[in-house]
Amino acid sequence: MLQFVSNKGGGKPVDFETAILDGFALDGGLYVPEILPEIKEEQLKEWKDLSYVELAFEILSLFIDRSIISENELKGILQTAYAPFEKKEIIPLYKIKSRKDTYIMELFHGPTISFKDVGLAFLVNLINFFLERKKEHLTLVVATTGDTGPATAYFAAGKSNIDAWVLYPKGLITEEQERQMTTLQQANVHPVGVSNCPDGGDDLDAVISKLYANKSFKEKLKLSSVNSINWGRVMMQTVHYFYGYLQIVDTVGEQVNMSVPSGGFGNLCAGGLARKMGLPIKYLVAANNKNACLHRIFSEGRFTKEEIIETPSSAIDILIPFNFWRYLYFCIDKDTERIKKWMDEFKTTGNVTFDKEIFENYKKGFLSNSSSDQETLNIINEIYTAESYLLDPHGAVSLNATDVLKNVLGNEKLICLATAHPSKFPEVIKKALSISVLPKAGTHQSIENEKRLCEKVHLCNHEYLEEALIHAMETNWDLTKGK
Ligand SMILES: *Cc1c(COP(=O)(O)O)cnc(C)c1O
Repeated sequence: MLQFVSNKGGGKPVDFETAILDGFALDGGLYVPEILPEIKEEQLKEWKDLSYVELAFEILSLFIDRSIISENELKGILQTAYAPFEKKEIIPLYKIKSRKDTYIMELFHGPTISFKDVGLAFLVNLINFFLERKKEHLTLVVATTGDTGPATAYFAAGKSNIDAWVLYPKGLITEEQERQMTTLQQANVHPVGVSNCPDGGDDLDAVISKLYANKSFKEKLKLSSVNSINWGRVMMQTVHYFYGYLQIVDTVGEQVNMSVPSGGFGNLCAGGLARKMGLPIKYLVAANNKNACLHRIFSEGRFTKEEIIETPSSAIDILIPFNFWRYLYFCIDKDTERIKKWMDEFKTTGNVTFDKEIFENYKKGFLSNSSSDQETLNIINEIYTAESYLLDPHGAVSLNATDVLKNVLGNEKLICLATAHPSKFPEVIKKALSISVLPKAGTHQSIENEKRLCEKVHLCNHEYLEEALIHAMETNWDLTKGK
C-alpha cells in the first residue's frame, strides 16, 4: 500500500487517511507519497476523452488504496464535491484571440469563484467522509489571503463533524471575499477578521503553527488544516494539469507550456509533480507579482523572506511559498536530512541560499517572472479591449509572465491558469479599465446575493490573536461538544 512520509524525515510512514486527517506531519514537515506514480503515454491516450471528474477518479486512484476508499465511495465523494460547480466542464478552457495558441484555464467556476474551490471541494468532502465513518469530529483552522477561507467555509458549512475557523487579515482582502466568509449563517463556520497583520496572511500561518504546537489544545479540539500543507490539496490539483493538457493537445505526447499565478506554490507544486509523473510539460512558469519569493528561488537560487508589498493580485501577496519544500523532496533524491536542515535554517534566519548543483536541479523546466502592478492592470485592459474577455488580476499576472518570457518559451501551446473570477476584485477591474461601473463580465450573481445578507464574524487584533483564539475556540467547543 502507498505510504506517506514527512519531507523532514521524522515519524513513521502513515497511510493516506492519516496523512489527510493530520494535515501537517507530526514533525512539522509536509507529507509526501513515498513513491510518485508513473503515467505512461499509452495511459494518457486512453484518458484523452474523459470528463474532469472521470479523470480525477483515475488519477486519485493511483494515490488512494481501495482498502481505504472503495471505487464507489471515491466516485460518490467526487460527485458530491463537484456538483455545485456552475459549468459542466468544471474547469473550461478559453482560447484567447489576442495571442497565438494560448488558452486560459478557468479555475473559478466553483461556488466561491476561485481556484481554491477546485482542491477544497474534494478535500473537505473527503475529510467529512472519513469523520462520518469514524464517528469523530475535527476542527479545521485555516489562514487565508482571500480565497482559501471562503472555499473552506463553503464546503464545511453545515457538516456536523467539522468546525471551521477561517482567519483573514482584515483590510488586506477585498470586501467581496470577506463577505463570502462572513455571510454564511451555519453555526459550524467561524470567520475571524484579524486587524494589524504586518506580514499579511503569513502572520496568521505563524499563529496557527503555535496552536498546533500546543499539544493539549490540539488534542482536545482535534485540530487539522486544509491549507495547501495538506497533501489532499496538492494531489487534487495535479488533476487540472492533466485535464488541461488533454483538452488542448492535437497529439498526446506533444509538449505544452503552462503559467501559474503563484503564492504558496501549492498549485505549481502540483504541476511540477504532474510533470514528474509523466505529463509532457516543457516549461512551468512561476508567475509572481512584486512579492517575488518564487522568482528569486527560480532565478537566483535564494529562498528569502522580504517585506510584504500590497498589490492588485492580493491572493498571491504571500511571502513564504512553503510548498517549495515539498517539491524539493522529489528533486534531491528524497534527502530528508538536507530538507530538514534548510527548513530549520529558513525558520531561524528567513534566508537559504542553495548551492549551484541543487539550484540547477530543482529549476529544471521552471521559468519565473515578477509582474508589476502596472503590467497587471495593462494586460487586463488590453485583453478586455481587444476581445471583451475579462481577466482577474491573478490570471493577468499569469498571462503577463508568458509575454515577458515569450522568446524562451518557444512555440508550444500555452495554458495560463486563471485562478479567480474578476468580480472578487471590483476596484482593481475599475482601475484597469478606467471606468466607474463594472461591465457585466466583472459581476457575478453570488457576489450580488451576499450583499443582501447579514455578516457574522469574530474580530480580533493581531497582537492578542493567539490567546483570543484559544479562548473563542475552547468556549465554542465546550458549549457545543463538551460534556
Ligand atoms: C491561492 C491563490 C493563488 C496561489 O496559489 P498557491 O497554491 O498558493 O501558489 C493564486 N491565485 C488565487 C486567486 C488564489 O486564491
